[in-house]
Amino acid sequence: TNDTKTVLVTGGAGFIGSNFCRYMLQHHPNYRVVVLDALTYAGNLSTLADIQQNPANEARFRFYPGKIQDETVVRGILEAEQVNYIVNFAAESHNDRSLLDPGSFIQTDVYGVFVLLDAARRHHVERMVHISTDEVCGTISSGCFTEESPLLPNTPYSASKAGGELQARAHHIAYGTPVLITRCGNNFGPFQYPEKLLPFFITRLIDNKKVPLYGDGSQVRDWVYVMDHCSGIDFVLHHGVVGEIYNIGCNEEHSNKEIVRLLLETLGKPDTLVRTIPDPRGKAHDHRYSLSTEKIRSLGWRPSHPFREALQQTIRWYVENESWWRPIVSRPDYQDFISRFYGP
Ligand code: NAD
Repeated sequence: TNDTKTVLVTGGAGFIGSNFCRYMLQHHPNYRVVVLDALTYAGNLSTLADIQQNPANEARFRFYPGKIQDETVVRGILEAEQVNYIVNFAAESHNDRSLLDPGSFIQTDVYGVFVLLDAARRHHVERMVHISTDEVCGTISSGCFTEESPLLPNTPYSASKAGGELQARAHHIAYGTPVLITRCGNNFGPFQYPEKLLPFFITRLIDNKKVPLYGDGSQVRDWVYVMDHCSGIDFVLHHGVVGEIYNIGCNEEHSNKEIVRLLLETLGKPDTLVRTIPDPRGKAHDHRYSLSTEKIRSLGWRPSHPFREALQQTIRWYVENESWWRPIVSRPDYQDFISRFYGP
């Protein structure tokens, strides 16, 4: 499009948010991107370094440190930057951490979403897309979740994400706030914090360290390459109907066991590096997620990255970008969390 728009990307220093910034700068030459991020343990300015250091982005990109719960900061940015669109990625996002510290999840994933919705309404933001997850619907043994499936979250993380979604829904109905919700499955790709299964396992295997597989590894996830997720969000931002929910997915269901096998094969590592551990999530561990993507496909969106290729490319990215993840995995707070949760 030739329109000039300013997009506020909250949580833009994280995994999906940073990839979304790259996607938008590349696909919408007339857009400006503004990031608000609290730089929690999961947010990292080095994740945005390639964008910030590119002189072509000088007038098109701006970073603000701060929390989405901070109404003054949020309203200040909407005003100063004349924001047209908000896309909210900011969240506490790790299930295992939500078992240890559920309160921080409510602060960001519920209250923070409310602050953004409230500010969006007061400042007449044209559209807000709230990024959510298939996990809000809980587990499903056969068939798949549609946008109408009931919310049945099983972990403090997914319950908080469901709370954020409900705030968005209610603000649309009560105030006409132009918000849309997207739900997606397990993302993978560059710049994912190495506590999530794929980058955690890849970075451990590179160092010939054992990887902990929960239970029998039969849990099934609906895998999405992060750039397909980003193109889906961009599509919903421009073509979705306000107040509606859209699932984004690639119909690629794979068990954790299968994913581990692919990692071992690609990296040329032995099976002996896999250690089976009792499932630390216990009953809260959803066995299977699966999303119907008929709604977004009927509007014309399609994913464009074949799973195997995207996975190989992602593995290669971690092999070639140790300078990004090494400083993270050597931090004491990272090592404390990993050994506390998964053992040495
Ligand atoms: P991430 O943990 O990598 O990034 C989250 C970012 O939000 C970090 O940069 C962090 O500093 C920032 N942040 C946290 N709390 C904040 C606050 N209070 N104010 C401002 N910034 C804050 O997470 P991700 O994997 O990129 O996930 C992004 C979004 O997508 C989340 O809302 C998550 O629920 C959703 N999602 C993720 C996946 C997945 O597979 N990773 C799947 C579906 C949905």
